[in-house]
Amino acid sequence: MQDSARIPASIPSIPYGHQEIREEDIAAVEKILRSDFLTQGEAVPAFEQALCRYCGARYAVAVNSATSALHLACRALDVGPGDRVWTTPITFVASANCALYCGAEVDFVDIDGDTFNISCDALEEKLRQAKKANRLPKVVIPVHFAGRPVEQQRIGRLAEEYGFSVIEDASHAIGAVQDIKRGERVGGCHYSDITVFSFHPVKIITTGEGGAAMTNNPQLAEKMARLRSHGIIRNKEIEQEYGEWYYRQVDLGYNYRMTDIQAALGSSQLLRLEGYIKKRNELAKRYNRELASLPLTLPPFAAESISSWHLYVIRLGSPAVRKEVFAQLRKMGIGVNVHYIPLYHQPYYQRLGFERGYCPAAEEYYARAITLPLFAAMTGDEQDRVIGCLSFLIGNIYCTNRE
Ligand SMILES: *Cc1c(COP(=O)(O)O)cnc(C)c1O
Repeated sequence: MQDSARIPASIPSIPYGHQEIREEDIAAVEKILRSDFLTQGEAVPAFEQALCRYCGARYAVAVNSATSALHLACRALDVGPGDRVWTTPITFVASANCALYCGAEVDFVDIDGDTFNISCDALEEKLRQAKKANRLPKVVIPVHFAGRPVEQQRIGRLAEEYGFSVIEDASHAIGAVQDIKRGERVGGCHYSDITVFSFHPVKIITTGEGGAAMTNNPQLAEKMARLRSHGIIRNKEIEQEYGEWYYRQVDLGYNYRMTDIQAALGSSQLLRLEGYIKKRNELAKRYNRELASLPLTLPPFAAESISSWHLYVIRLGSPAVRKEVFAQLRKMGIGVNVHYIPLYHQPYYQRLGFERGYCPAAEEYYARAITLPLFAAMTGDEQDRVIGCLSFLIGNIYCTNRE
């Protein structure tokens, strides 16, 4: 690896993900900074309406993170002690922590080895067993991993059959199309109760920190909106009866509000979402084309849905090759990453009693996966560099091994 050692450290690293901020975003934020309301003004409802229009959902509740949105979603669905919540192990910790916040038990359903999403076959089998043992889940949280839509229709059918609610963790997937033929976007909640988005800067669009919960159910929307702001209600009837200062705390809520500064940035970014998805799909297609001859497994495109390609994940020949390629690419200034360590490997979850090897397909995936850089503002030159470095390394590794 002498060549890589000679590459000077001053070459800026290419991150695995990065926000794109334009002058119009800055102008939108500046306008709020010069206005009367930095929070609880008009910008948040405007952003919520724009999200509803884009996704085809009736209600949006904008909050300060996807983690908060997941927590509110669990609370709105009355998740509490004694309840079970199931999710996939190949996700960020927040997808499971939300259930623990509510005092519920978490369990994991293994992934599909081709899509890396929750396996619907494994889910169906686990539901059958759980029914016999009288341990059915109250909520299942599928995650549109890397932006690729989960088979929500099938999960929706299982939800009806076994009587659980569904929260889609679409932190990776704003802009993804669930069903091309039906023109259904992720976030429309066509087969789920609630869908959650993240607007962290590495995600598809950003508000700095931020998230949203989408739903078509007015009761759930109302409850999440109330819990977002301390569980307080305040309206004309109450004010008329008691006086304009009067409000009522009717539930134990939080301060999970999004600011107007964030919402203005979100609305401005949302205008470019369509273009971002197109660009991300082009970058993914180009990777698949240019890397096709290398000894690695490429992420497949789906026929029935459009991924938002939040992450571009390849799998290498063995855990040893993955480790070597990862270390060398990092040295070359390529900001590769690994998404995700099976969630139950985390010490906190180990203490809850989960054993390594619990979900074999997730373990097998994790051992060989690397996320390559992919973001909307990525240039052709940057992608060339990633492709060049990866091809060089893999050629080298396999030559050395053969000798
Ligand atoms: C990023 C992410 C979250 C948490 O998002 P925040 O907005 O940072 O709270 C939750 N789930 C998944 C799958 C994520 O990738």
